Amino acid sequence: MIARQVDYIIVGQGLAGSAVAVQLLRQGKRILVIDQPSRNNSSRIAAGLFNPITGRKMVKTWMADTLFPYLFSFYRAVEEKTAQKFFYPLPLYRPFLSVEEQNEWMGKSASPAYAPYIEKITTASTFPAVADPFGGLLLKQCGYLDTETYLEAVRQWIAQEGEFLQEDLDEQALTLSADGVRYRQYEASRIIFCTGVHASETFRWLPVKPLKGEMIRIRAAFQPDVILNRGVFMVPAGAPGEWRVGATYNFQDASPDVTPQACAELVERLNELIRFPAEVIGQIAGVRPTTPDRRPLLGRHPQWELAFVFNGMGTKGVSLTPYFSEVLIRAVLNIPAINKEVDIERYNVLYWTSPK
Ligand SMILES: Cc1cc2nc3c(=O)[nH]c(=O)nc-3n(C[C@H](O)[C@H](O)[C@H](O)COP(=O)(O)OP(=O)(O)OC[C@H]3O[C@@H](n4cnc5c(N)ncnc54)[C@H](O)[C@@H]3O)c2cc1C
Repeated sequence: MIARQVDYIIVGQGLAGSAVAVQLLRQGKRILVIDQPSRNNSSRIAAGLFNPITGRKMVKTWMADTLFPYLFSFYRAVEEKTAQKFFYPLPLYRPFLSVEEQNEWMGKSASPAYAPYIEKITTASTFPAVADPFGGLLLKQCGYLDTETYLEAVRQWIAQEGEFLQEDLDEQALTLSADGVRYRQYEASRIIFCTGVHASETFRWLPVKPLKGEMIRIRAAFQPDVILNRGVFMVPAGAPGEWRVGATYNFQDASPDVTPQACAELVERLNELIRFPAEVIGQIAGVRPTTPDRRPLLGRHPQWELAFVFNGMGTKGVSLTPYFSEVLIRAVLNIPAINKEVDIERYNVLYWTSPK
C-alpha cells in the first residue's frame, strides 16, 4: 500500500481540534483529522457563550485581555474564509441584587482593568421583563458562537484542503516512533490529541475530569438582543424566539443522559431571573473536559516527541481554544512559548511513568 503523507494528524474535532486544524490549514500544512462525533457532543451542544467577567463573584476571567481580542479576530477570520455566519458578539446583562452591588460596580467601572469590558451600569430597572429592580451591569466583548455551524464549517474546510476520517481512532493501528507517526496508510510528522473527556491511551495519565452539564431550550417572546446572566445564562439558540438556558455542573454523573432534576433546577433559577412566560421545548446534556487547576493542558509527550496534547478546556472552550491553539503550534515548532500554567509538565512529574 502506498503511504499517504501528511504533516499532522489531529484526533478529535471538537472546539479544541477545530482550532488546531484552523491554525494549521492557515499555514498551508497537510492535515488528517480523525473524529468520531458520537464519542462526545460537548462542543456541538455548548451554548457557545464567551464572557470576560465570570463566576459568582464576577471577576475578570484568567488572561481575558489576551484571549478576548484574539478570539474576535480568530472567529471573524474563519467566518470570512468559510463564508459562513456563526460568530455573534452581543452585550450581556447581569441584574444587580442590591444597592451594595451597584456601588461596587460603580467603583470597578473606573478601574482600567474593568473599564474596557463595561458598556453601561444602570441603577434602575432597564428591562421590564427581567427581575432587575436595582438595575444591572451591561458588559461588552461578550457574545456567543453557534458551535454547530462553526464545527461544520471547519469540517468542510478540512475536507476541501485536508483529509477527514469519521471513525474512532484505533490505537492498535497507530505507531509512534522517533522518526514519525503512522496510522493505517497515513504517515505524519506529528500527531495532536484533542479528544476531550476521552483521554487517549497515549496521554492516559493526564487528569482530565468529566464535568457533566445540562441545559434546557426554551421558547419565549423576549425581544432585546442581549444575553441574560444571573443564576443561569439565557443565550439565543438560533431559531427566532428560542434560547438556551444553562447550565448545571455535575462531577458525579458522567452519563450523556438528561435528568428531570437538572430541568427543575434550571427552571427554578430562570424563574428568579425573568418576568415573562417561557415554554421548555427541549433539554440537552454534554460532558466538559476539566482539570484540577482549571487550566488547559498543552504539551509534548515526555517520551514520544512527535505526540502532543490539547485538552482540558473545561467550561470555556470558546474563549480558550483560539489563542491556545496558536500557543500549542508554536510549541510544536519548538518556539518556546508554552506558559507554565498550561504546560502538561506540571502533571508529568507527578503522574507519568514510562511504559514497561
Ligand atoms: C451543557 C454545556 C454547556 C456549555 N456551554 C459553554 C459555553 O457557553 N461556552 C464555552 O466556552 N464552553 C461551553 N461548554 C464547554 C465546552 O463545550 C468545552 O469546553 C468544549 O466542548 C471542549 O472541547 P474539546 O474539543 O476539548 O472536547 P469535545 O467537544 O469533547 O471534542 C472532542 C472530540 O473528539 C472526538 N473523539 C474523542 N476520542 C476520539 C477517538 N478516540 N477517536 C475519534 N474521535 C474521538 C469526540 O467525539 C469529539 O468530537 C459547555 C459544555 C456543556 C456540556
